[in-house]
Amino acid sequence: MVTGRGRKQIFGTVKDRTGKRISGWKEKLPSRADEEVLIKAVLQAMPTYSMSCFRMPKGMCKELHGLMAKFWWSKKAGLGYRPSRIWSSLIWGKDLLKAGLRWRVGNGEDIYVYQDRWVPLPMNFKIISTPQFDVSMKVCELFNAAGQWDEELLNANFWEQEVKAILQIPLASNHREDKLIWHYDQSGKYSVRSSYMVACMKKQRENGMEGSSTQDGTFLWKKLWSLQVPNKIKFFLWRCILGFLPSRQNLYHKKILNSPICPRCGKKVESVIHAIWACSEVKAIWSLSPWSANRHEWRITFFKELWQVVIVVSSKQEVDLFAFLCWDIWNDRNNLLFQGRSLENVSVFNKALAYQTEFYSVTLAPICSHNRQGPSQSYVNWHASLDGQYKINVDGAAKLAGLVRGVGVVIRNGNKEFIAACSRQVIGNFSAQAMELTAAKEGLQFAYDLGFRDIVLEMDAQGW
Ligand SMILES: [Zn+2]
Repeated sequence: MVTGRGRKQIFGTVKDRTGKRISGWKEKLPSRADEEVLIKAVLQAMPTYSMSCFRMPKGMCKELHGLMAKFWWSKKAGLGYRPSRIWSSLIWGKDLLKAGLRWRVGNGEDIYVYQDRWVPLPMNFKIISTPQFDVSMKVCELFNAAGQWDEELLNANFWEQEVKAILQIPLASNHREDKLIWHYDQSGKYSVRSSYMVACMKKQRENGMEGSSTQDGTFLWKKLWSLQVPNKIKFFLWRCILGFLPSRQNLYHKKILNSPICPRCGKKVESVIHAIWACSEVKAIWSLSPWSANRHEWRITFFKELWQVVIVVSSKQEVDLFAFLCWDIWNDRNNLLFQGRSLENVSVFNKALAYQTEFYSVTLAPICSHNRQGPSQSYVNWHASLDGQYKINVDGAAKLAGLVRGVGVVIRNGNKEFIAACSRQVIGNFSAQAMELTAAKEGLQFAYDLGFRDIVLEMDAQGW
């Protein structure tokens, strides 16, 4: 990421701070172990924060390296540590920070629509729609004359899910500057707790890489059965991985069909991996996905290999999306083959994303059957008297894997009769308390939107 904003100033501070910390420690550090912990935790986290957002001037890098190396070697010459080890940790930390950093939109003048990470979606915060505008377009060009999001423009040029996420970004009237924030903490500030969680996710991926390269293939299956997708999709993937899908190649081998050639492209043998991933006709669908950037580098012959790559390079939500996408691509192929109709690439992708969102919202808040789309009349009893007192029960589901949290709200009247309900998906690393409060806020807002004023809020405040 290149930026012109006071680069030298920023790095000047980094250097000063690093220097200050080091000289402070020189007197205070009690033991070698403490020293190492400090080096790893504080010193590394601090400068990498800036380095990950800005390209650090070369000279500064050298100076900083010198500063740290001097400290390190003066303290423990001959202990068997090498500076390269510090630096490899530093680079690890840098990637870690990058994984959670995104832009908070202010005046939108510093953020590139297609290149920067700014959309609050769980993928990588980047726009994944095919660019309809110049890649140098800035976010402020998506505002209308009133300084608000231009909904029409958004709807016409971005995915439904992206538009939804973008419209949720509040635009301040005071034209504050765009700012890089740490996504996984509500305050937007980098915190040890939330970074620890992202670190665990990253570590898991790295361990997965090691695990799959050994003879032990259990990781591959564990990952499959732990997916947050409908069971039918798990079994579908299981068949893909084992090569049991009735592709043309498989049916040809069983002498059921006379030709193994793919019904879509009509050129190549339709193996399982061809039908779902390699066929020229499905490439455009995958090009919309998080795996488009480096897919050409992957030498994949079998679906199992693809699965092994995907589970180590993707986040939990991405792997789930992968499953939904495979499912939809196979169904689309069947529709084409047996009913002569297939969806556009865009629609196949959108369908998978929508299916995932819907499934998440249902599995996260099982008491409610609908995702909140503003007050929906279909499940609101408008005949209920608004005179009496109403009771709102809220709950937040925080003990789930990944970053997806759920909030559920139920409104009942004085006779305990059901009036309305909603559920909503929240992305972020919230504590149980923060989750309860988010649920409470959601509940009150929902009740207010529906016109209820005399209300009692009831919440399950376990663990306070
Ligand atoms: Zn094909």
